[in-house]
Amino acid sequence: MNHDNSHALFQQALDLMPGGVNSPVRAFKSVGGEPFFAKRAEGAYLIDVDGNRYVDYIGSWGPMIAGHAHPKVIAAVDAVMRDGLSFGVPNALEVTMAQTITRLVPSCEMVRMVNSGTEATLSAIRLARGATGRNRIVKFEGCYHGHGDSFLVKAGSGMLTLGVPNSPGVPKTLADLTLTLPYNDFEAATRLFDDLGGDIAGVIVEPIVGNANCIVPAEGYLQHLRELCSKHGAILIFDEVMTGFRVALGGAQALYGVTPDLTTFGKIIGGGMPVGAYGGRRDLMRQIAPSGPIYQAGTLSGNPVAMAAGLATLELIQAPGFYENLEARTRLLRDGLQQAADAAGVAFTTTGVCAMFGLYFREGPINGYADAMASDGARFNRFFHGMLQRGVYFAPSAFEAGFLSSMHGETEIAHTLAAAREVFADIAA
Ligand code: PLP
Repeated sequence: MNHDNSHALFQQALDLMPGGVNSPVRAFKSVGGEPFFAKRAEGAYLIDVDGNRYVDYIGSWGPMIAGHAHPKVIAAVDAVMRDGLSFGVPNALEVTMAQTITRLVPSCEMVRMVNSGTEATLSAIRLARGATGRNRIVKFEGCYHGHGDSFLVKAGSGMLTLGVPNSPGVPKTLADLTLTLPYNDFEAATRLFDDLGGDIAGVIVEPIVGNANCIVPAEGYLQHLRELCSKHGAILIFDEVMTGFRVALGGAQALYGVTPDLTTFGKIIGGGMPVGAYGGRRDLMRQIAPSGPIYQAGTLSGNPVAMAAGLATLELIQAPGFYENLEARTRLLRDGLQQAADAAGVAFTTTGVCAMFGLYFREGPINGYADAMASDGARFNRFFHGMLQRGVYFAPSAFEAGFLSSMHGETEIAHTLAAAREVFADIAA
């Protein structure tokens, strides 16, 4: 594969942007090598500036569930943008978007649109703090909620640590208010609430942890968090930026039958445009400005072009059989990869829920963060590059979930599995 044009662009970019990128994982730091630069994308494929085509299992980190440049999404954007790119006054598409989200995710009785997942999670914890009058929040090891100060806190060992900021620039006094728990550990959560329950404003959790690859909740775990929050008067926030409209039409909360107080969204609801949202109980959402005192605002929030892309995508995913097909294809991929690894004698396991999956270079089961971290990163890196050279693009990190779109058909999966058989044989050595 020739990468001359990507290489030249990256050399320029390194002088102009930190690490040559606008978001860290794109720089390929953890897998080594240089990123490729996209020229365009269609269906299940990314095409780079040197003309190489890749089957794309990232889908812009989640939004492209209907495939890249879907004609219906492009047509919706095209129609709306001709009437103006931004108004700064309300527009009808915002109402349709709010109707659609509240219908598909009934725990969201009201919703506020923002411009990214980070904005959504920041706003949700401000609301939890404002509504409860408490300051502490609880998050889980391996969960990522965007780059807000309160979330850039790493877990220490043991059941609970006071927050330790893991990025310079996060004040220790703020990080101290973030408590970190091991995901899927029932007892640790109970103990923390027994000790500090009266101080906890809210618990924020990825219901399926997609930022430590793909860790599935233990049976009853999300319900346990629900019960603890209800008992201690804390707000339960499901961060469904990744899982929302990805693992089921109603998100992880529909799949597991657990009702959070607040939910955050991003990715799919923007159909590839910069969009986020948070929503939840009406009594809580009414406390947001201007109906209530808790401030949150955005110049471009509810942008008509972004709403059009998101609404067209949300329309596509409501087609009968949409999720069943996605799940069947993802199963085909996961089973085929497992067979290829087994045939080569490589320790390997996959996890997944519907069209979201994790690949681990170790034996299963994967129950928590420590299991995920024990995956063989060096082997993953060889797998990643071997697949990339054969035109298959998995996430450039051993700890990111992968995604399928409805445009990933049998051809793309057959190509992926043929490549994987070669690569697993190579890396077995
Ligand atoms: N929450 C989760 C679960 C995410 O996966 C992400 C991003 O990947 C975010 C929040 C932050 O979203 P954004 O990158 O749009 O700010």
